[in-house]
Amino acid sequence: MKKIAVLTSGGDAPGMNAAIRAVVRASIYFDMEIYGVKRGFEGLIHKDIFQLDASSVGDIIHKGGTFLKTARSVEFMSREGRLKAVEALKDIGIEGLIVIGGDGSFRGAEKLTEEGIKTIGIPATIDNDLAYTDYTIGFDTAVNTVIDAVTKIRDTSTSHEKTTIIEVMGRYCGDLALYAGVTGGAESIIVPEDPVSIETIINKLNQGKKRGKLHHILMLAEGAGSASKLQEELLASTGENARVTVLGFIQRGGDPTADDRLLASRMGVKAVELLKDGVSNHVIGVRKNKLFSKKIDEALKEDKVLDKELIRLAEILSV
Ligand code: ATP
Repeated sequence: MKKIAVLTSGGDAPGMNAAIRAVVRASIYFDMEIYGVKRGFEGLIHKDIFQLDASSVGDIIHKGGTFLKTARSVEFMSREGRLKAVEALKDIGIEGLIVIGGDGSFRGAEKLTEEGIKTIGIPATIDNDLAYTDYTIGFDTAVNTVIDAVTKIRDTSTSHEKTTIIEVMGRYCGDLALYAGVTGGAESIIVPEDPVSIETIINKLNQGKKRGKLHHILMLAEGAGSASKLQEELLASTGENARVTVLGFIQRGGDPTADDRLLASRMGVKAVELLKDGVSNHVIGVRKNKLFSKKIDEALKEDKVLDKELIRLAEILSV
């Protein structure tokens, strides 16, 4: 394979730039021409493709976001749209495409494979919602962003002796809330995979107050409900008006951590090596710190399970 391309798609995640950099540098190392596609599948349809060299990706390893930009493309969902994308690649003689994104982007890559383009997926999303891999690029940075916020909120929460509800992203996956809750020292962690009743939350609150706690942090995953609703329920049941902080998009930004840069660099190089070896329709994952790849369809069929050990740890530590 002599010419390959790379794009980022779906929601952005810190570490995407480090992954692009690794793809570009590895392609050049293995004597392949490498092209960047702007704005994901949407840019591909509109032939927004340009050649990259080693210095095009200089000074980006440490930056959040994605210099290739990202998008969600409605047109690409139709075969007609995808055929335009295939034509755009074939016009330049590009045979392989590396897609950096989440499950939707991988489904898109799978569809391109059906049209004769070789594809490899690299998982990048702050949600860590892909069951087949222990971690996705961007998750570690998002956890660190959340605990940084928790540390600051904790100060004012203690000063005012207030209960604070912190709502974090993650969609239907509780990983971000769970990891940030355990490492940020939250007293209660509420995730969609392990629902808790309002009574349990109140009991924990009272238990803390009894032992003289000055503050109480409730870490709520967005998929488990809204912070304002929980605030109302607490007010109705206990009379306490908890404070609410919805962290929002700050969780998607920021400089990637060392762990995310390393994971992105490893996965970027692996993606190029796979294409070079003729592998296609695969996604890369990491289990027990070892990289592997498997078929997109098999990978996306796996069901995500919450780390029970971490749930237990949270329970023990919030005694
Ligand atoms: P995130 O997890 O951050 O949302 P994602 O990759 O799951 O990332 P999506 O919006 O689901 O984000 O998908 C990105 C793009 O991939 C879509 O806008 C669409 O163009 C394409 N795509 C998604 N699902 C399919 C599908 N079943 N067939 C073809 N293309 C798809």
